[in-house]
Amino acid sequence: MGLIVMKFGGTSVGSIERIRRVAGRIMERKRSGDQVIAVVSAMGKTTDELVRLANEAVRRPNKRELDMLLSTGEQQTCALLTMILEDMGAAALSLTGWQAGITTESVFGNARIKEIQTERLQKALHQGKIVVVAGFQGITENDEITTLGRGGSDTTAVALAAAVQADLCEIYTDVDGVYTTDPRYVKAARKLDEISYDEMLEMAYLGAGVLHPRAVENAKKYKVPLVVRSSFNDTEGTVIKEEAQMENQMSVRGLAFERNVVKVTLHGLPNKMTTLSDVFKKLADARINIDIIIQNISENGLSLSFTIAVNDLDDTIDVLEKEKAAIGYQYLETEAGLAKVSIVGSGMASNPGVAATCFSALSDQGILIKMVSTSEIKVSTVIAGENLEKALQVLHETFQLDMTVRVG
Ligand code: ASP
Ligand code: MG
Repeated sequence: MGLIVMKFGGTSVGSIERIRRVAGRIMERKRSGDQVIAVVSAMGKTTDELVRLANEAVRRPNKRELDMLLSTGEQQTCALLTMILEDMGAAALSLTGWQAGITTESVFGNARIKEIQTERLQKALHQGKIVVVAGFQGITENDEITTLGRGGSDTTAVALAAAVQADLCEIYTDVDGVYTTDPRYVKAARKLDEISYDEMLEMAYLGAGVLHPRAVENAKKYKVPLVVRSSFNDTEGTVIKEEAQMENQMSVRGLAFERNVVKVTLHGLPNKMTTLSDVFKKLADARINIDIIIQNISENGLSLSFTIAVNDLDDTIDVLEKEKAAIGYQYLETEAGLAKVSIVGSGMASNPGVAATCFSALSDQGILIKMVSTSEIKVSTVIAGENLEKALQVLHETFQLDMTVRVG
């Protein structure tokens, strides 16, 4: 007998019909003798629709009220699934984030889980109940409802799995697993049997939408065995685990990308020790995520470029304009419509020349690289958004990602 966390994403619970199918899958698991905690997302595009309504209501919705609103999406699914499970003869209990004991920091819209009190959940499991938890939400120490950021139900699932020391956390979604890259962009994209936590972490952070990055972070930290698989078939998914005997030795395992990247440049900054910390502290205080950073020293002083997601553009400009005198820059420039393409693979660390191969593959296609950043296991390039598809194609071919090379 094991303890399994099964998480079902929005598409998997997109209609009553689909929730019924999910319930069937959970019942199968339960009958096989496992204890089950199910974590659910909002039905289909419910969260998008709620965001849309809020934006129709007012120009900049209050973040507390937005969380109040968005958290209801998951609660709907949670209650509906529990009703159906009970109708099928199971004992089941639905819990909101706070009922499940999930405490978060006090940040609306993108809160991190601080702690999970599992007593109530454990008690229900011991009573033989299937526990259904609303994903994507928690409560602060001051009893405010928070949400965990878009895609955050994955994080709920992994955090719960860690808290109750589950044997496995399964993420059920609308694709068969983790792919070398998005098959909608590259036809030859292939499902991976395995990927390491570190590689998955890079892929997730770099925009591979299949898993919420913080879910992978937690899985790595607490060594939660994780599987991503389809809720629509029985195909074996992708196993995400510690570095192990991986399926191939190729230096690149996958390509991730992100669209709607904006490059912000501050010109004419004072060339002093504290300039960088001043700028980024102010942006950090406003909870703006900065990605690639480049500084340039010329006779006109210091200039600083960094990338952000387009959603943060308004806030970024607000902060920088407000702090213009304090920071002491001359003028601000933004370039929108960019894309970031990254190659990811643990094998890179021990394989020189991967970056060079990536750059020449892109330049051979006439694709201009505007910014670069690297880590031990990834190389990211920022290019014009219109070149995204071409870049993905050529990199997928160059690194032979369509081929499985088994070793040993
Ligand atoms: N419903 C939320 C979203 O759409 C959270 C999730 O599905 O993971 O972002
Ligand atoms: Mg998701």
